[in-house]
Amino acid sequence: MTTPELPLLDYSALLELAAHTCSISVACACTRPVPRAWTSMPLSLPNTLLDEVATLRGSSAEELTFEEFHPAGTNFWSEDAPIAMGFYPYNDCTVWSCRRCGRSFLFYVEGGGYFVDRRIRLLSLDLVRAAET
Ligand SMILES: [Zn+2]
Repeated sequence: MTTPELPLLDYSALLELAAHTCSISVACACTRPVPRAWTSMPLSLPNTLLDEVATLRGSSAEELTFEEFHPAGTNFWSEDAPIAMGFYPYNDCTVWSCRRCGRSFLFYVEGGGYFVDRRIRLLSLDLVRAAET
């Protein structure tokens, strides 16, 4: 099985997806187990519900930084931690969308070797930040 090339999102495209996600109010099976903060992929979330639709991984994967962006004193697990493009782990994320309601989520895989954690987070409009260089 080959993975099709995912479209690379820029800031405005990500904002658009986040705005769309934010505008959806219908209850859906995807929202209950996935909070605003990062969480391990809930087992209750059916694999069949989400489709991988885009990526935030730029072509400069070799320059992947592990620096995080927390200007307001948040930490990695904060509910209001900024979704900062260009910073970790957003520079290693793909975007998944719910087939049923259309909400979008950020997804990345933490670790490697013996420790692997699949993590997911709702794409919240108010938290999206442009990359600062
Ligand atoms: Zn949904």
